[in-house]
Amino acid sequence: MTPQQPAANELGANLTSITAQLPTAELRDRVAASFAKTVAELVELVAIPGIAWDAFDAAQLERSAEAVAELIRSTGLDDVQILRVAKDDGGQGGPAVVARKAAAPGRPTVVLYAHHDVQPPGERELWSSEPFTAQERGGRLYGRGAADDKAGIMAHIAAFRAITETLGEDFGVGVTFFIEGEEEAGSPTFGTFLKEHRELLAGDVIVVADSANWQVGIPALTTSLRGLVDGTVDVRVTDHAVHSGMFGGPLLDAPTLLARLIATFHDEQGSVAIEGLHRGVEPVVDYPEETFRADAAVLEGVRLAGKGSITSRLWTQPALSVIGMDMPSVDMSSNTLLPAARAKISLRLAPGQDPSEAMAAIREHVRAHAPFGATATFTPGEAGQAFATNTQAPAAQAALWALGESWGVAAVETGMGGSIPFIADLKATYPNAQILVTGVEDPDSRAHSANESLHLGDFEKAIVAQTLLLAAINHGALDEAREQKA
Ligand SMILES: [Zn+2]
Repeated sequence: MTPQQPAANELGANLTSITAQLPTAELRDRVAASFAKTVAELVELVAIPGIAWDAFDAAQLERSAEAVAELIRSTGLDDVQILRVAKDDGGQGGPAVVARKAAAPGRPTVVLYAHHDVQPPGERELWSSEPFTAQERGGRLYGRGAADDKAGIMAHIAAFRAITETLGEDFGVGVTFFIEGEEEAGSPTFGTFLKEHRELLAGDVIVVADSANWQVGIPALTTSLRGLVDGTVDVRVTDHAVHSGMFGGPLLDAPTLLARLIATFHDEQGSVAIEGLHRGVEPVVDYPEETFRADAAVLEGVRLAGKGSITSRLWTQPALSVIGMDMPSVDMSSNTLLPAARAKISLRLAPGQDPSEAMAAIREHVRAHAPFGATATFTPGEAGQAFATNTQAPAAQAALWALGESWGVAAVETGMGGSIPFIADLKATYPNAQILVTGVEDPDSRAHSANESLHLGDFEKAIVAQTLLLAAINHGALDEAREQKA
């Protein structure tokens, strides 16, 4: 992706005076001095294939949690625990590592989130080197989890080390490490975990280091995630199947009527045409059409749908897809007018859209567009909240400053077309916490694929940015907001 040149992030006067007092050069040097050690520790983490899927060896996931706990202990923290909660089916959730440094009286707490479990490696032949033996080539570190998300863990640890070694007793901010062990398996016990450990994990700021930067050399803060709802659409036209020769003509079959109904979900240009769905603001950066076409493997001649920038279509507008249909297969087909047909639809929601409102909008649309008076009903399925960062809030401002300062280039505010379901859980549990979604990946990181890799130059910058963020918070970057809240 090639961004338009982002404008420099504008900072409030309070933050500008705070950042001027920070020992920025010293913190940067501290990170640089231990960077080789940080990378060596990352290589050791990559060597542990901790995968939270039932088909993989759970003992490796335990080893992985132990290794992370040991690394955190090595920073001088002694309150380090490995915790897990029961699954609904009676099994155990993945082991999470939680470690705490208490805040000095009246000082804020920052929660540092990452996950230590990884995706399965996939087919070995697709990798250029062993997936669990990290290898450095051309300034990148290759290996499963080298980026997603063991580099996120190491960014937290290395930043914590740099700041505590530099500031010592003057670092009064509370820090809680929360390193999850089942993210790639869909965080099945995340909600229960938060409920059981609500106090333990509470903080003023939660840094989720599991996203991506804009491109190598340009940092990003992920400020919006789309929500998601799904459900099924049923069309019924006759009480039972009838012969297409005897009744076809005056009567249309259910799949045809379902297709006509589905066609009303988009307008002629391909924008979602369901009334009552929100559209967010245009992002300031765009995704060039050529790159999008290549990334999505779009066939020659296919025109793109919708209007506005491609990033707005991906991040801040709704998107509807049909993801399944129930009707006889081609092999099982006969000359019959089918009485009923069903489709499953999935709708991505713009940040700011309430999922229950969206469900109601789909239901009303389906009712109002029932073709030829057929019975058309919508049955709601799963719902996930969208997420948007208030970029004017003090923590986001401090993060934008820290990223820009570390890279020497203003940070891009990006969105994500998908969702990170546990972020909605965090938001629901800690409505007053400021959530910052940062990351160590770049568009070439290939998280989840073969040849996953981490850009080492940007990794160091990500650690520096995280250190500077902690330093700014330590020097009062949140204080105005805390006073207002009190
Ligand atoms: Zn991840």
